[in-house]
Parts: sequence; C-alpha cells; structure tokens
Amino acid sequence: MLASKIFTPTLRDVPAEAEIVSHQLLLRAGFMRKSTAGVYTILPMGHRVINKIIKIVEEEMNKADGQELYLPIIQPAELWLESGRWHVYGPELFKLKDRHNRDFCLGPTHEEIITDLVKKEVSSYKQLPLLLYQIQNKYRDERRPRFGLMRSREFIMKDLYSFDRDEEGLDISYQKMFDAYTNVFKRCGLKFRPVEADSGAIGGNRSHEFVVLAGSGEAEIVYCESCDYAANVERAEAVNAGINPDANPEKMSKVATPNIKTIQEISDFLQVSPEQCLKTLVYLADGKPVAVVVRGDREVNEIKLKNKLDCLELELARDDAVLELSGVPVGSLGPVGLKGIPVYLDEEASLVVNGVTGANEVDHHLINVNYPRDYQAQLIGDFRLVGAGDKCPVCQAELSSARGIEVGQVFKLGTKYSEAMDATFVDEHGQRQYMVMGCYGIGITRTMAAAVEQNYDENGIIWPLAIAPFQVAIVPVSNKDEAQMKAAFSIYRELLKRGIEVILDDRDERAGVKFADADLIGYPLRITVGKKTVKEGTVDIRVRRDGTEMTVPLEQVEQEVMTLIERGK
Ligand code: ATP
Ligand code: MG
Repeated sequence: MLASKIFTPTLRDVPAEAEIVSHQLLLRAGFMRKSTAGVYTILPMGHRVINKIIKIVEEEMNKADGQELYLPIIQPAELWLESGRWHVYGPELFKLKDRHNRDFCLGPTHEEIITDLVKKEVSSYKQLPLLLYQIQNKYRDERRPRFGLMRSREFIMKDLYSFDRDEEGLDISYQKMFDAYTNVFKRCGLKFRPVEADSGAIGGNRSHEFVVLAGSGEAEIVYCESCDYAANVERAEAVNAGINPDANPEKMSKVATPNIKTIQEISDFLQVSPEQCLKTLVYLADGKPVAVVVRGDREVNEIKLKNKLDCLELELARDDAVLELSGVPVGSLGPVGLKGIPVYLDEEASLVVNGVTGANEVDHHLINVNYPRDYQAQLIGDFRLVGAGDKCPVCQAELSSARGIEVGQVFKLGTKYSEAMDATFVDEHGQRQYMVMGCYGIGITRTMAAAVEQNYDENGIIWPLAIAPFQVAIVPVSNKDEAQMKAAFSIYRELLKRGIEVILDDRDERAGVKFADADLIGYPLRITVGKKTVKEGTVDIRVRRDGTEMTVPLEQVEQEVMTLIERGK
C-alpha cells in the first residue's frame, strides 16, 4: 500500500477529550474517529488491526470446535421476557419499537437468541456438544462511555455459546475455551492474566476474566506469587484474622466524641487504630435498607453484598435518607441497638475484640464493643474488598495487586437460560434434560485499545507484530531523488512478493514528518532509503520496539526482514 493513498488522517495534537493513552494515540494516529458519545468510526488502519485480531480469534475458536454463524442484532422483546432479562438488564439495554409498536432491543449479548435457535433445532443428545460463535457489533447504553474503544456503546465482540449434555461436558467446553483464550491473547502479543471472576448471583458457577495488565485498567486484580491464585477483587475471597484475639473483652461504655464523624477522626481522638473501629454503611437494596458493618480500615465489596442480597439495584443511602431511616446521622451510626435496619456483618469485623463504633447518638461513640455480646447480625459473611497484603485463600502467602483491562470472560451458565427458555434434549435413556450452557466473550475493539495501552512510548504506538496494521514501512528520505524512489519501490515490490504487509511512504513530505508518522502509527519495522542507498547500496532497518538500527546491503533486505519477522512472532 502507498502512504499517499491510504486514508489515515493523523493529528499533531492530543485531542482534549481523550484521557488515556490508547484513546489519544488511536485518534492521533488515524485509526478511528468519534461519531458520537461512545460510538466510533474505525478507519482503514484500525480496520486492519481489527481484522488481524479477528483472524486469530477465528482460528483459535475453530481449532476448539467452534462453528461461526451470524445472529441478528435486532432482537424481539419476547425472548428477553422469556429469559426474564427484559426488565433486569436495566437502562444499558438499547430498546426500540417497530412501526407496529412492537418492542425490540439491539443485542448487548446473545444468550436469548441462540438458546431459542438451539432449542428449536436440537433435540437429541447425539447433536451435542455444540459450540457456536459469532463476531459482530454489540450495543450497550453504558452509564459512562469513556476511554474510546475501551468502554463504548457500540463495540465488536466475539461471543461463543456452548451447549452440552451435562456438567462434565460443560467442564470440557469451558476448558477448551479457557485454553483457546490463552492462545488468542498470547498470539496477540499481550501480557495478560486469567483471573477468577464474579459470576453474579447464581452461586456455584465458575467464571474467569482475561485481564491485560495495564495501569490505566478499570479492573483491579489480586494475585499470589507463591501459588497460581489470581482473582478480580470483586471476587477475591477474604482470609480473616482477629484483632487482639487474645485480649479480654472489657465492659462496653459510651464516650462523648464532639464533632467526630469519620474513622480517621475517631481513631485520632481515641488513640485507637482504624482496624479497631467498626464502620457502618447503609445501603438501599431495591429500595430496602440494609446496614453493612466492616472494619474501619476496610471497604465494602458491593458485588459480594449484591450477590448475597440477590437484588437488582444496590446503592449507598444518601445521608438524609440514613437520618430518616435510623434517626441517627451517618457519623454516629453503629450496630449496637440499631433499630429497623437489618445488619449484615463482615466476618472479619465480627472478630474485633473491644471495638469502637458510633453509639447511634449524636456526638457519642461506644468503646469495648464485642460481638455477639453487644450486638447481633442478620447475617455474617464476606462483605469486604480484598487487597494487596491480604492473605492468599489458597496458600496463605501475601497477595499482590495490579490493575488491568478485562478483554475477555468465560462463564459457566449451567441451566439458567435453558430452564428459563425450556431448551431441552432427549438423552440416551429417552429422558428429557435441560441443555447445560456456557458463554464466552472477547472484546475485539477493546483488545485493540488494550494492546496500545500496553505497547507505546512518547512517540506513538508500538504494535505487537501479530496485530500491526502493516509489518514494515519503507521511508525514502527524499521523494525528489529518483534513484532513492527507484530503490524504495524495488524493495517494496520484493517484500510484497514475499507476502509481507508493507507500506511505502511516497508522500511529498519532509523526512522528519515521515519518520514521526511511522513512529506514531507504530509499524514494527522501518526501512530507510537515503543517500547511502544510492551511494553504497545499503538501507537502514530500524526496529520500532527497541530502536535498534542496522545497516543492511540491498540484496539482503528481504532476508533480514523475514528473519526479524520470524523472530518477532
Ligand atoms: P465490563 O465489566 O467491562 O463492563 P462486562 O463484564 O459487562 O464488561 P461481558 O459481558 O463479559 O462484559 O463482555 C465480554 C467482553 O466484551 C468483555 O470482556 C470486554 O472485552 C468487552 N466489552 C464489554 N463491554 C464493553 C464496552 N462497553 N466497550 C467495549 N468492550 C466491551
Ligand atoms: Mg465481563
């Protein structure tokens, strides 16, 4: 391809709305343009990268016995009513009506459509297992679309659904997909980690997220260096130890704490550590209040809480609502004698001996509070966020934490959808059984952004070879020099002949501009054709990733490029 012909409008300045590097660079380097909030046009360079990711994904899905199909984006409300998700999915669902006033949505995911298809077409155990997938646009009216392709409202996803006869079959399909995902992200040249993930309110099921490690990522993970344990913090299990476990419970008493509200203030005022304090937060679960008590140095894990409560909406109650519900201002709340609000007590908080809490009375706290002597709970459980320094639930070593970008998720659904939508088959004994399902998603456009987030420098993108829009850029220093142009075109043709994806920068620009664009766009290899080429018969080959440069005689250029590409794979 000639650079003069490709539509890749680059920008010199960082676009104001772009907060993270991948968003900035994909705009600047001309891979995409914003259409409206959370909706992007993918330009030819971006399209090439996406196609490469798609090719890798298709190869790995096919290798794992996946069969590709194409499901409709427009989905009728009836199927979503049947699965029970029409109302549950919430405002993220893009809903629309046709001219007959019938309800539809734009597919954010395709469990309903595919379960409906398979239940109609599959009736015997002989037709299972079945692994079906597609790659197409998904629509989610995200609350906060941001970071460009990272969290958009229209994006490309690969979604595969597995249908098995039983749990053992599902285990096999799940493992196949887990391995296929590992291959996909390895082949894309990304540093990633599979982590245990939250699987929602349906207990017992398993899920893993594939997280590309990057400081800007929205996902927080904890991992153990002594064993393999790794989990999204939403999911990570707490290992709890008592505070002063051997101390004797003292007599509870009330102390005046004028104007003291936060954990930090109370711990300074009474000279106790935050971990000795109990923090009480009131949430509204589908409108009903619940008080959650965690240790003063901990945060509530709202995902765990939501799963336990099995509610649709969970939100922290506003200060005025707390006052109205309990008669106590937020800073003075505590579990002792709290009226009218059920208490969900984090297990670790229950182990605190001689704790400090709000006294449910303005400007007063209680000291030497002990569970269960002084207060009761409706439920004790794991309601806190785990973080670096916590113990590994598998081997008890200390956990580390990191941030990352969720690029894929695999999920055992079990019979959730097949039961709701009555998708059954007849087994070898003539018995009707529900199909056992799994679902597996990869964010294709998010993977492109994640690759940039992990591979860039101050000059631009550094594409991993496997997903680069072009592998090689040839840059003649001067267009006016016919001999240079001749040499450049000759290398160009030779590389094309060998199947290498190469771009020749034939634009009438200064060499500096062409070099800067090559760096910004991020071609893995750059061949500079200059005076030396004409005089001495050599070119310079530069590796984008580490800046190494080598001078190579013209007759060895193709061979050298092939070697570098092989090595980079
Ligand atoms: P998140 O927690 O980031 O909102 P999710 O768990 O809702 O994502 P899934 O339903 O598991 O997402 O979708 C599968 C994959 O699709 C995700 O792993 C991610 O790569 C991608 N994806 C999901 N939402 C978006 C989005 N708004 N923009 C771009 N990619 C997305
Ligand atoms: Mg997910």
